[in-house]
Amino acid sequence: MNLVIEQARMADLFGTYHERGYVVIEDGRIEAVGEGPSPDVPGARRLDAQNMLLTPGLVNAHAHLYSSLARGISLPNYSPKSFGDILEGLWWRLDRALDLEGVYWSAMVGGLQHLRAGVTALFDHHASPSAIQGSLAQIKRAVVDELGLRCDLCYEVTDRGGEAARDAGIAENVEFAKGLPKDGMCAAHMGLHASFTLSDKTLERAVAAAEPLGLPYHIHLAEGKEDVVDALKKYGLRPAERLDKFGILTEGTLLAHGIHLSQAEIDLLAARPASVIHNPRSNMNNAVGAAQVEGMLSRGIRLGLGSDGFGCDMIGELLSASLLAHHAAADPTALGGEKLLALIRHNYALAERFFGIPMGKLSPGYAADLVLWEYDPPTPLSAENLPWHLMYAKISEGLVPHTVIVAGRVRLSGGVVQSVDEREALAKSREVARALWARI
Ligand SMILES: [Zn+2]
Repeated sequence: MNLVIEQARMADLFGTYHERGYVVIEDGRIEAVGEGPSPDVPGARRLDAQNMLLTPGLVNAHAHLYSSLARGISLPNYSPKSFGDILEGLWWRLDRALDLEGVYWSAMVGGLQHLRAGVTALFDHHASPSAIQGSLAQIKRAVVDELGLRCDLCYEVTDRGGEAARDAGIAENVEFAKGLPKDGMCAAHMGLHASFTLSDKTLERAVAAAEPLGLPYHIHLAEGKEDVVDALKKYGLRPAERLDKFGILTEGTLLAHGIHLSQAEIDLLAARPASVIHNPRSNMNNAVGAAQVEGMLSRGIRLGLGSDGFGCDMIGELLSASLLAHHAAADPTALGGEKLLALIRHNYALAERFFGIPMGKLSPGYAADLVLWEYDPPTPLSAENLPWHLMYAKISEGLVPHTVIVAGRVRLSGGVVQSVDEREALAKSREVARALWARI
């Protein structure tokens, strides 16, 4: 059905601003945009925005939906001293305890949270070593088919569960990618955990499986020092150099974190088309250090922004990228203005590539992935200062979507999730989480 949004204050990160404008949506795309009263579109549903703020939906370039049921968990004797301890003591215990039902409900809960944070497209990195086969279909069912978000999926291949689990991980990526409908709602990568849990043989197998399908990779890179120490010790290479040896730093590849990189690795990444995904809040939480974001941007490396499963608030993540850069450089001008915005703009470029439709602008032909925020600005708002309105609203009075539209379909309306009974879903997820925690 066609939709007209009228009486909206409208802005994007690419220079569009209307004080009281309209958007006409047809077949999942923006058909027309303008200032003033909307044109008559016969048969279209009309939505009065009451001068609330309309922006393009947000994109999360590195998510872990499988972590969603960890909220409030308590693990006896868990007192991590390093990033390796955090993985072994928490995440690798949680992911091992997930069955397919747990995968589905983690995805449902995480998907609801993304929807409520105004995120309309995400790139997920999944692990459930006791339930590998069919796991990506469960995530797709919850997030894409039922909640209506766009989602790019992959399974984290690793050696930590032995050869059979490794091969099942590769097969899960391949089977899922082969069966994808071409409707622009779902996409796939070849998922890899990180250099330090992947042998040469495993990387060879994963690359041999991915290349015929044209799949790029989604992998953690130099998140903790462990990744660097392992690659140097076992292979005499730094992690990015090792991945490059296998042809992994290709167009569309997502390299999450990129913290402990040498100058030579930064030079290498500058010469390759792969994207580095910055996850500032997760990095601070895990105490793994601060990526050299400004240095990488100045070398022309493509940088996007993710949450790494540490919530899914991309506006808060953007502000955190700014704060972490200020703090790490002891310089309040670090990663200022356009440099900061490059992160969130690159997320739109990634989403465009994988979902096959222009993203991020309030312009004709672009995806009708839109968020109507309950926001009445206390100071003048423009396209130029939009991100600062969003970030400071977020940490002051709060910033909540009233309506979320994905591919032209209303998925949240008046704060109510449209296609899923949220209360019932959360009651069920509490049950599943209780059973999951008991298995850990
Ligand atoms: Zn991650």
